[in-house]
Amino acid sequence: MLVWVGAGFLLSCQHGKWHGDQKLIILGIDGMDPQLLKKFMAEGRMPNFSALAEKGSFRLLTTSIPPQSPVAWSNLITGMNAGGHGIFDFIHRDPKTLQPYFSASRVEPPKHGIHLGSWVIPIGSGTAEQLRQGKAFWETLDDYGVPNTVILMPSNFPPVKAKGYTLSGMGTPDLRGSYGTFSFYTDDPMTAAGVVEGGQIIPVQVQDSQVAAKLIGPDNSFRKGSPPTLEPFTVSIDPLESVAKFSVQDQTFILREGEWSEWVHIQFQLIPFIGNVTGICRFYLKQAHPRFELYVSPINIDPADPALPLSTPKSYSRKLSEEVGEFYTQGISEDTKALSAGVLDDKEYLEQAKTVLAEHRQIFDAEFPKFHSGVFFFYFSSLDLNSHMFWRLIDPQHPEYDAALAAQYGSALPEFYQQIDQVLGEVLQRMDDRTTLLVLSDHGFAPYNRSFNLNTWLLNNGYITLKSEPNPDPNQAFANVDWSRTRAYGLGLNGLYLNLKGREREGIVEPGAAADTLLQEIKEKLLAVRDPQNNQTAISRVDRASEVYQGPYAAKGPDLLVGYNRGYRAGWQTILGNFPADVFETNTNPWSGDHCMDYTLVPGVLLSNRPIDAANPALTDIAPTIFAQFGIAQPGSMMGHSVFSSSH
Ligand SMILES: [Zn+2]
Repeated sequence: MLVWVGAGFLLSCQHGKWHGDQKLIILGIDGMDPQLLKKFMAEGRMPNFSALAEKGSFRLLTTSIPPQSPVAWSNLITGMNAGGHGIFDFIHRDPKTLQPYFSASRVEPPKHGIHLGSWVIPIGSGTAEQLRQGKAFWETLDDYGVPNTVILMPSNFPPVKAKGYTLSGMGTPDLRGSYGTFSFYTDDPMTAAGVVEGGQIIPVQVQDSQVAAKLIGPDNSFRKGSPPTLEPFTVSIDPLESVAKFSVQDQTFILREGEWSEWVHIQFQLIPFIGNVTGICRFYLKQAHPRFELYVSPINIDPADPALPLSTPKSYSRKLSEEVGEFYTQGISEDTKALSAGVLDDKEYLEQAKTVLAEHRQIFDAEFPKFHSGVFFFYFSSLDLNSHMFWRLIDPQHPEYDAALAAQYGSALPEFYQQIDQVLGEVLQRMDDRTTLLVLSDHGFAPYNRSFNLNTWLLNNGYITLKSEPNPDPNQAFANVDWSRTRAYGLGLNGLYLNLKGREREGIVEPGAAADTLLQEIKEKLLAVRDPQNNQTAISRVDRASEVYQGPYAAKGPDLLVGYNRGYRAGWQTILGNFPADVFETNTNPWSGDHCMDYTLVPGVLLSNRPIDAANPALTDIAPTIFAQFGIAQPGSMMGHSVFSSSH
């Protein structure tokens, strides 16, 4: 034992100044906006942030290009930009099929199997693969023997091998492999059944006050055709009272109208008696009478028995659930899609979003006191998702602003900020002279008033040719595009790609001078686009990938990064390769704030208890800052500098 301790000490000393007692705490607050923070500080809502800014320092933090969370956190994780970590957008495309996919991870069933009747017995196991490249800062800390805990870090599913405790965050799928698919059961014949964005509307019948329905689980790759697994449940509605009794597997519980269940465990049977996976979900009885309306959350991977790895060590998510109870494990836990679909109203969504933050605070309160040396990172999602959904209630200029709703729920977003201030308060109480604190966000926030449909614009300007109109299958990207006469296309929130010869399946644009000229032409035209409604500039910045990315993956992403002006964003349809009729549309979705725009317009924040020397710190400076704290030499692939060094 003593020998090992000695060896570890020597190793640490060889590599630098790690004395084994420094502490670095990083609070990662997704979407904390500098303007809102200053406003809430001025209103006295954020006493702990005010104290930190006054005694320490408060800077703007330059975000990533483009300023999307998976890209931004990957910049922080690796100290490199997208050219180094390969995450350019929430959504990437395969240049050979031109089909979009989620950029952060890939979950695949086993490749081979033996067919026996309706069963397919897999050979080997299914895999989840993380698609982010580049070494995470905590992998390097592990190399140097610096203890670390990294909780809910985005773009880290499945978590990379690590010696410390890590728990995956944004990018973690639900049990169906999606970023969250809710179910809504109703007997209302006026509600259209079927798939909506982020969920499924399932018609049911109430007979003798009884409902029989099924929970939809993961696709069963053990069955031919991989049909979804289904588990039945029943509901007995009280004929007089607004209350119902639920029976699912061996569990029963009672909900009043407007009440949420605790987490319910569901076993999905894949092969009888052999292969099961567990998931957890919450039931919400929206209405018992006169209509039956039941929301069931996406089925989350059970942290106590994870079907796919959520943590390092693998047992860590189970230990956490034993300590704090079950919790949302899907990366984006706030059910924004249910609010957008009208399945949950503002009050109901808010209650759900508060539960998510309460769970995160429970995990924080359980884990933070255990931290004694090295690095402690903790991520909070609340300000991001709730700024997306509640911007329309704090901004009277927003097209979806509603004075009555604002009077009711306009305080929701500031109250989420205040909760983060309370977390900071807990941290400040435990500071000592060995501790450095960084509080930072990946980007800020802005209104999203108007959509710009990039693909429609490219179509109208002759860069895309369709075989016929309209797009016959809106669920398939670019279903009707004539690639032999298409020079450029938009995909993802900020990406514009050339249909490049040798890269795209049916590329026609010659690489080199022709491609350069075309990119310059499109860039100039985009910067000149005016919104006909108000004559405003819709796109304030366009970056050439070749000018902003360095590293081995620099050429894998979009060719142009479209930076929308404040108030503008790519429309939901164009992102996935579709062609709405109009180039501009007014945003009527409750998703009313955004940040996927010109990165210079949405900087994040950086606060510290120590003086920050860097005048313009960036996300890519954070990994170098961490290394400098522990005397670890900065890898040459990192472009940034410690924010505490004056050489900045
Ligand atoms: Zn966001």
